[in-house]
Amino acid sequence: MSLAASCVRCSAPVAGADGEWSCPDHGVTAPLWRAPEASYDAFVEHLRVAGPFPTYVPWPMGPGWSVTDFAVVAGEQGRGIASLTCTSGTSELDGPVDVLVIAEEAGTGLGARCAGTRYTDPGHEIGYRSPSARVRIGSQAVSLWGISTSSSHGELDRSVLAGEAGGRWLWIVLRPASALLLLRDDWILRDVSGAGPQLVELPFGGHRPGW
Ligand SMILES: [Zn+2]
Repeated sequence: MSLAASCVRCSAPVAGADGEWSCPDHGVTAPLWRAPEASYDAFVEHLRVAGPFPTYVPWPMGPGWSVTDFAVVAGEQGRGIASLTCTSGTSELDGPVDVLVIAEEAGTGLGARCAGTRYTDPGHEIGYRSPSARVRIGSQAVSLWGISTSSSHGELDRSVLAGEAGGRWLWIVLRPASALLLLRDDWILRDVSGAGPQLVELPFGGHRPGW
């Protein structure tokens, strides 16, 4: 398959032996599967590896926007524990914008890597104050809280929101930080894990952000 395995917490390639994957820096890890470039065929493979685990994309995508990146964390095919998509486009106010959407089981660490937080799970930063934004997933309204990233590596180039959807953490990372204002409108995230042939309508490709 075209997806390559790397560490969830850094970009080091990992090799599997006897069903166990190991990073030189982070030790035993679940492998993160990422395509060399975003394409329809690679996305079909991504969904196969993810199995029933949700993969979210903003829906509908604006004109000129495309899916520029995606990844899934899974120890075995069809048993995803985290997924990531990046959609990129331009907004009038911000110019080029990247929107990363990460869903993950607690303790995975992919959201924290993209957000630039020191901790893995956002639980202690959410729920104790009014939510900053809401997105809709199917019939469910999901509350999201602003997550501070300023304490780590001076990551001020992005806005981070996190909440809980379907018993998993949901992270949204927007770059540049000012793109947060895009969320004023009611956003819809669509789980495309079971979408099938409709995926052909999704535009793929374009510049991939680093994360
Ligand atoms: Zn690593």
